[in-house]
Amino acid sequence: MLQQTTVNAVIPYYERWLEIFPDVRSLARAPLRKVLKAWQGLGYYARARNLQAAARIIVKEHGGVFPRDKKIVRKLPGFGPYTTAAVLSLAFGEPLPVIDANVRRVVMRLAGISGKAGPDKDAAIMAHILADFPSKKPGAFNQSMMELGALVCKPRSPQCLVCPVAAFCGAYEAGEQEIIPALAKRSSRKIEAVVAVIKRNGKYLIQKRPSTGLLAGLWEFPGGKREPRETLEEALAREVREELGVEVRAARPLVTVRHAYTEYRVTLHAFACDIVGEPKADPKRLRWVAPKDLHRYPFPSGTARILGTQYHFPI
Ligand code: SF4
Repeated sequence: MLQQTTVNAVIPYYERWLEIFPDVRSLARAPLRKVLKAWQGLGYYARARNLQAAARIIVKEHGGVFPRDKKIVRKLPGFGPYTTAAVLSLAFGEPLPVIDANVRRVVMRLAGISGKAGPDKDAAIMAHILADFPSKKPGAFNQSMMELGALVCKPRSPQCLVCPVAAFCGAYEAGEQEIIPALAKRSSRKIEAVVAVIKRNGKYLIQKRPSTGLLAGLWEFPGGKREPRETLEEALAREVREELGVEVRAARPLVTVRHAYTEYRVTLHAFACDIVGEPKADPKRLRWVAPKDLHRYPFPSGTARILGTQYHFPI
């Protein structure tokens, strides 16, 4: 949950998650829709899917007990080197150093390793960590390094004057703490999309995204990207035709919301629409849902924001 998110932001999600799935067995047997719904708002939904896939393996192959063997843990879905080392060192005291974005930055500064922070630096970073890695309480050491990065040695404006390791920090000594690591340019591709909010007999039409790829398995209003030189209305008519096989009869602008995902920023224009005839898309992926039941479905943040704009969106 903490990937790309701060601890404070995650706490309510974490507490709610544990209420819904208090143990590995309840997570393993839950329907995927419930898992994705509980994850809604955290992004990177592959992690939720992996968490459940791992829970199922733990129940089926390990009697519901989390394995302690690094080789077995590493094979669980979603367990890369970082997660494996973090779980085994924090939960079981295994002597495995972790390298995450915070640790990478802290060690690069301590050791004066210049350049951009990235996995290509991990071998050098690991060598520095191993030189100081304690034989006792490896979990405490790992947490200290991560916390130092999160609270003191921040990406911008590191708090060197109150830093407990300033006395042996190479970057601080050289006055380079602001330029190590070099800042990576963030790409923020802009996407404009239209969605059709179609209501019939008091129910809204929502559509399930494919089970693989971006935002897989989440639900949303039908729609898609606006092509170059299309007006919003033209894009809406084309998307509804392509996705539902029907024509838009009338459309009026409802609300525009913006949402930034990691790699792109999307502007979503929602239109209230009437359509001619019955949608012809795969019925397993389409559902007419009463407003009171919409909360059961996992939505991408953009769609959730459309639903959240209650002033414009009369539900
Ligand atoms: Fe980071 Fe400054 Fe501490 Fe060095 S002295 S580890 S740059 S906060």
